[in-house]
Amino acid sequence: MTDPLPFRTLAPWLRESFGMPVYRVALDAGSTCPNRDGTKGLGGCTYCDVEGSGTGALRGGAELEEQLLLGLKRIERRKRTPDESIGAIAYLQSYTNTYVDIARLDEVLSVLDPYLEGPISCLSVSTRPDCLSAETLQRLAQVARRVPVWVELGLECANDEVLQQINRLHTVADFEDAVARVHAAGLSAVGHAILGLPGDGREGARHTAEVLARSGVAGVKAHHLMVLKRTQMAHAWRAGELDVLTCEEYVEWLADFVERLRPDQVLHRLTGDSPAENLLAPRWGVNKNRVRESLADCLRQRDTTQGTLCSPSWSSGLDNA
Ligand code: SF4
Repeated sequence: MTDPLPFRTLAPWLRESFGMPVYRVALDAGSTCPNRDGTKGLGGCTYCDVEGSGTGALRGGAELEEQLLLGLKRIERRKRTPDESIGAIAYLQSYTNTYVDIARLDEVLSVLDPYLEGPISCLSVSTRPDCLSAETLQRLAQVARRVPVWVELGLECANDEVLQQINRLHTVADFEDAVARVHAAGLSAVGHAILGLPGDGREGARHTAEVLARSGVAGVKAHHLMVLKRTQMAHAWRAGELDVLTCEEYVEWLADFVERLRPDQVLHRLTGDSPAENLLAPRWGVNKNRVRESLADCLRQRDTTQGTLCSPSWSSGLDNA
């Protein structure tokens, strides 16, 4: 029998919580981003690809319901036996999904409505911390009466100066406020972090984990900085002005990060991936399973686990995921 991992990953947690395997179906609802259209800023975050970290499906012409049905068909293929029950996380991934007027949000939710409590076991909405109106939270809270709703908020790093330099145009306090409002609405929050942002360093990664632990988000997504072709960072990288982490460095930094999270926060993601044709650096040639195993080995060698260095005062009162 293999040793249990010294950290909490998503797939087993989903199986335990929903009583069946649950898989993500990524959806593009045609949202935009206030950091690209001039409302907050222009040009976007310096690491963000012009596609806005999205699937591009809507621009490819696939209507939301069509995308959902295709995604559901895709996850059907993952059944181990024909009778196995599986569930889906409807994942509104592209751009800033709550940066829409309320009529559009209602439209999107009405497309998903007939599938809630059916194949859709959970709704996950990716957004910025400064784009969560009270009306939006109220609409999501209505959905949460039927299936769990996760609001995935980009913190990226817990340093306002670095956030300014990468043109995030929100602050750490905006993130903390958004998490508090998500919790007050009875929803779950997932915090997103990027390790290795310029100027943040290893100490920054540790501090980001501490802020995420203190915030009480139920889930955490982490990945290393990836330099993609159509980004502002690509220029700095080509000019030799930007360093990226080696896989070995990332695993050490990630171990520091995981040690500082709460033991019960669920790790939704431990590394990033990007289509090879879009990625400039780093090119590790290592898949996500290998990163997970390396992290486990690193923590075992240190004789630590997730939460070993988490302050006891942050280890209670996690949101309800
Ligand atoms: S990372 Fe998110 S907030 Fe930043 S420009 Fe891209 S879509 Fe907008």
